[in-house]
Amino acid sequence: MAGVDVALRCRDCGRAADLRDWRCTRCGGLLRLEWPGLTPDQRIDPAARGVWRYRPVLPAVGASAIVTLGEGATPIAWIDRWAAAHRLGQVGVKLEYLNPTGSFKDRGTTMLVSHARSLGLGRLIEDSSGNAGASVAAYAARAGVEATIFVPAAAPAAKRAQIERVGATIVPIDGTREAVTEAALAEVARSGAYYAGHNANPFFVAGMATFAYELIEELGATPRHLVIPTGGGSLCVGCFDGYRRWFDEKAGCQRCPRIHAVQSSGCAPLVAAIEHGLDRVPAIRRNRTVAGGIEVERPPRDREILQAIRRTGGSAVAVDDDEILAQRRLLARTEGIDVEPTTAAAFAGLARLAKDGVIAPDDMVVVAATGAGWKDPG
Ligand SMILES: [Zn+2]
Repeated sequence: MAGVDVALRCRDCGRAADLRDWRCTRCGGLLRLEWPGLTPDQRIDPAARGVWRYRPVLPAVGASAIVTLGEGATPIAWIDRWAAAHRLGQVGVKLEYLNPTGSFKDRGTTMLVSHARSLGLGRLIEDSSGNAGASVAAYAARAGVEATIFVPAAAPAAKRAQIERVGATIVPIDGTREAVTEAALAEVARSGAYYAGHNANPFFVAGMATFAYELIEELGATPRHLVIPTGGGSLCVGCFDGYRRWFDEKAGCQRCPRIHAVQSSGCAPLVAAIEHGLDRVPAIRRNRTVAGGIEVERPPRDREILQAIRRTGGSAVAVDDDEILAQRRLLARTEGIDVEPTTAAAFAGLARLAKDGVIAPDDMVVVAATGAGWKDPG
C-alpha cells in the first residue's frame, strides 16, 4: 500500500529528471510522471478514506511523510430543481468546496506537499489567484514547512486572509496572472526553494486524478458529461489521466466523461484554441472577469487540457460575467449551494451547453463545484 515508484521525464525532450525538479533542466519543458503497470487488485486501500484511499495508485511517499487534513471523499448532490429549470435530467454536483480549505485544490496539494516532505524540502513557493495559495499555505503549516505565496494584488480579500492566518508569507504582485508566476519563479531561482506551482507541478496533477477515482467508485453509471470551470486546467488533466490510469489508455478514453471546459469570455484562450483547431493556446485579448480563479491567459498545460477535451469528445465554452453571477444566485436560491463566481461559471456553461443541444435532456452530467462562496463573497 506504499504507493507507486514513479520517475519523472521531460514532456518535450524526454530527458530524465530528478524528483526534486519541477521542469526540465535542459529545455525548460514540463515534466510528466512515468508509471509502472498495475494489477487490478492494487487500486484502493479499503481502510482509508478520501484521497489517500487511492494511495496504491498515487506516487509513493513514506507513511510518515503524508500531510493530510482529511481531503477528498466529497459527496455528490443531485440538483433536480436547477436541472428541471434548464430542461436537464440528472445533474450531480460534486461538492469539492467541502475540502479542508474550501476548494478542490486540496487533492493536488496533499500529494504535492507530501512529496515535498518525503524529500525533506523546507520551503515551498507557489503562485495562485487565491485557492491554490490558501491550500498550499495550510498544508505547509501542517507539514511544518515554510511557504511563500505570490498572489495577484487584486485577489479576493477572503483568500488573502486565509493564506495569512495559517502563517504563510504573502507577496501581492501588480499586473497579470502571468506576472505573478514570473515573480514566483524569480524567487525560486534566487532562493532554491521548491516550486509548488499547481499548474505545472506533476505531483499536484497526480493528486487531482483522485477526483476521477471517486467518480468511478461512487457512481454505478459513468456520467456522459463532466463540466469543469477551467483556467490552469489541473482538474481536466488530472481527471482524464485518472480514467486512463484506472483502466488503461483505450478503455480510459472510452469511459472518461466528455470533458467540457468552461471559461470566462474575459479570458478564454482554450475556447479560441478549440475554435481554431490549435494544439496550444493562441494570444488573446482579455478583460477583467468576476471569475478570477480561471483567469489564466497561458495555461502551462494547455496541450494536455486540449487533448483531454478533444479525446473525450468534449468542448470549451465561454460565458459572460452577468451569466456567471445570475447562475450563482440561482444555484444558491434553488439548491442551497453557495459557490464562488469562478465555480458558478461552470453552471453558466452547462446552461449554455443544454440550450445549444450539446448536452441532451436525458444525459447524466456531473459538475465540479470547485470553490466555496465564502472565499469570494463579491
Ligand atoms: Zn526537456
